[in-house]
Amino acid sequence: MGKATQCVHSGSIADPIHQGLNSPIFTSSSFGYLKTGDNVYPRYFNTPNQQSVVAKLCALEGTESGLLFGSGMAAISTTLLTLVGRGDHAVLQRDIYGGTHHLVTAEFPKLGIDYTFANNDAEDLESAIRSNTKLIYIETPSNPLLRVTDVEAVARVARRHGIVTAIDNTFASPINQNPAMLGIDIVIHSGTKYLGGHSDLCCGVVLTTGEIAKRVRSVAMSFGGSLNATSCYLLERSLKTLGLRVEKQNQNAMAIARHLATHPSVKRVYYPGLESHPGFDVARKQMRGFGGMLSFQLESRTVNTRRFLERLALIMPAVSLGGVDTIVCAPAETSHVKLSAAERAEMGIDDGLLRLSVGVEDVQDLIDDLDAAMQ
Ligand SMILES: *Cc1c(COP(=O)(O)O)cnc(C)c1O
Repeated sequence: MGKATQCVHSGSIADPIHQGLNSPIFTSSSFGYLKTGDNVYPRYFNTPNQQSVVAKLCALEGTESGLLFGSGMAAISTTLLTLVGRGDHAVLQRDIYGGTHHLVTAEFPKLGIDYTFANNDAEDLESAIRSNTKLIYIETPSNPLLRVTDVEAVARVARRHGIVTAIDNTFASPINQNPAMLGIDIVIHSGTKYLGGHSDLCCGVVLTTGEIAKRVRSVAMSFGGSLNATSCYLLERSLKTLGLRVEKQNQNAMAIARHLATHPSVKRVYYPGLESHPGFDVARKQMRGFGGMLSFQLESRTVNTRRFLERLALIMPAVSLGGVDTIVCAPAETSHVKLSAAERAEMGIDDGLLRLSVGVEDVQDLIDDLDAAMQ
C-alpha cells in the first residue's frame, strides 16, 4: 500500500458489533488474563489502542515493532538509557534537538556515561568512535538549521563497527523519510509534532526491528512513560491525514523558501529543498519531500527581528512545530534556550535566526503575511 493508504487504513481495530469505521477506544487499565494468556496493561505498552497505532506507524516506517510514549523526550530518554550505561560511550550529532542535548549534558555525567558530540557527516561521527562506543545518534534534517546527515553512510559506518544506530526522524516525518529502510536500527519521533499535527497532543514513538525491541521495551516498562488510550486514539485520528498534511506542508515550505531566498530583506534561508542548501543532494537522495521546516535570517540593517515577529498577523510566534497552523520562533529563545550562548554559537545558531514551521494554509496568505511584517 502507498503511504496515504497506510495512513488511513493500517492497524485499525475492526468493530465487528457495529461496523464502525473508527477503532473503538479501550480505556481499561485492567484486562483479564485467562483467555489471552497475556498480561495486558497500559505501562506494558500492549493495550489494543497502543498496538493499533504502533501497527500503523510500523507500516509507515517499515519496522516490526514499536512503543508509544507520553512525550518525545520520554521516547528519547528511554532509548538512550537502554543503549548506554555506566562505562559506555555514545557518539551524537552535535546539532540535535535542544532537549536531547540537555538530557545528555545534564544526566549522562551523573550516570557515568561518556559522550562525544560530532559534526553531522559520517567521517566525523566515525572518528569519534571509541572501543566502548555503544550508540551513534543522529537527527536529520536537524533543528534549526536543517542540516542533512547522510543516513545510509552513517548506518554503514555503524554496522562496520558493530554499533547500534538511532535517529530522531521528527522533522522529516515517515511521509518524507524512512531511516529503517536505509539501515538505521531505531527510529524515534516526537509525535507531538507532525504525527499529531494539530498542536493538541503530546506523545513520542520508538520504532525498531528485531531483538533490540525487547531491550527497549523492558527498560520502558520500568521507566513507565507509556501513552494513554485517549491520546492513542487522538494520534490515530491525526495519522489518517498525515500524508495529506505533510504533502501540503512540503509544497508550502518550498514556495516560501523560494520567495524568501530572493527577498531583499532576507539575509539567508535554510531549506534542504533549495539547490543552494549544502545538504540538497543528500536530501534528494534520501527524502521523498523536503519537509515543512525552514529557517531564515533577516537583514538586520533593514528589519528588526523582534518588531517583525510582533507585526505578523496570521503566523503566530509560538513554540513547537509540525502542526496545521504556520508558526514561527527564535530558537535562541525557545528550543535552544537551555544551551549556553557559547554552545549555540558552536552550533551556528545566531540569536536573530527565525524558524518557520509551515502549516497547511493557502500559501499566498502566508507569503503576504511575511512580506507585510518585513515591510
Ligand atoms: C519536540 C522535539 C522533541 C521532543 O519531543 P516532546 O514531545 O516535546 O517531548 C524531540 N526531537 C525533536 C526533533 C523535536 O522537535
